[in-house]
Amino acid sequence: MMQISIIGGGVAGLCVARVLRDRGADVLVVDRHDGIGPHACSWWAGGMLAPFCEGESAEEPVVRLGQEAADWWQVKTDAVNRCGTLVVSPARDKAELSRFGRRTSHFETVSGAEVEALEPDLAGRFNTGLFFKDEAHLSPRLALGRLRDGLVADGVTFKTEDADPKLYTREGLTVDCRGFAARDTINDLRGVKGEILILSCKDVVLNRPVRLLHPRIPLYVVPRGDGIFMLGATMIESSQKTHVTARSLLELLSAAYALNPAFGEAEVLEIGVDARPAFPDNLPRIRRDGNLICANGLFRHGFLLAPAMARMVAEMIFDNTKPEMMDETSA
Ligand SMILES: Cc1cc2nc3c(=O)[nH]c(=O)nc-3n(C[C@H](O)[C@H](O)[C@H](O)COP(=O)(O)OP(=O)(O)OC[C@H]3O[C@@H](n4cnc5c(N)ncnc54)[C@H](O)[C@@H]3O)c2cc1C
Repeated sequence: MMQISIIGGGVAGLCVARVLRDRGADVLVVDRHDGIGPHACSWWAGGMLAPFCEGESAEEPVVRLGQEAADWWQVKTDAVNRCGTLVVSPARDKAELSRFGRRTSHFETVSGAEVEALEPDLAGRFNTGLFFKDEAHLSPRLALGRLRDGLVADGVTFKTEDADPKLYTREGLTVDCRGFAARDTINDLRGVKGEILILSCKDVVLNRPVRLLHPRIPLYVVPRGDGIFMLGATMIESSQKTHVTARSLLELLSAAYALNPAFGEAEVLEIGVDARPAFPDNLPRIRRDGNLICANGLFRHGFLLAPAMARMVAEMIFDNTKPEMMDETSA
């Protein structure tokens, strides 16, 4: 049985572990923290599996490869909600909605009455919207927990250690999935800061992720059930991942208030911040240097693209194929 070590147990590492285990490998996952948690960027993700909406700003491979994600997560974790995505804008920002529609596909334009039918708690607030019915979302913490539990049940070993991937290559094939921490060896990896809030608001019910377009800070609200909402996310060119700025808080909260003033009474349960690992074109990369494979750069598409990236890592190892995400630069 082929033995493979994976360094990093965020969404990249766990998806790679899942696919390699499914292909019969003997897998070890090494993370410097025990279990999943706020140390990983993956912990703070919105969990939107929204390939078509992402087409507004992302390259074509994100839209195409991202369409694998919902089925993959459903099969592996049974944690996927397939209720679509609703995109709205305040009347004064109608041009934003038209622009979003021109840059995306697989949606239908809905009237104010149809917005209300989809989301009764947005009644009377928006006179048009875009409905992406084929999109999905999940709770990242639930999905990662189930993925990890499934791996443990299938004999994958987890080890807690602050590891140097190069040292592991002496034991055999090693996949570096350290996310932004791999910046020590990957020079062109940068951080894109994201800030989020987790709110409790029993007075608002949403059935699906809602994106509110705004020229400065587009907001999304993802319902997590039980009156819990994830509100995000800023996109700031910065590797700083310790503090949320006052401006971001103000803008996130005012956008939520614009969506439904009842959010004004919400309790703030968590304030989160992390740096998304990204390459210059915001597309993920797989690099190989002998026994060391690096899989990184998931940017804002961790849950959306990690299944495709994991599949390509496995195809490279087992089928000797050159992955579409392969980058010839040595790791
Ligand atoms: C605010 C925000 C919102 C987002 N929303 C979405 C979304 O809606 N949909 C989506 O698809 N993506 C989203 N993303 C993007 C997604 O979260 C990231 O792309 C993804 O988490 C990157 O995963 P990763 O596994 O590469 O890194 P990480 O999740 O950071 O995992 C890296 C792991 O490596 C471990 N590690 C690091 N160094 C070492 C070492 N030396 N030894 C051992 N272990 C080590 C860390 O402890 C960590 O567990 C969002 C990101 C942010 C910040």
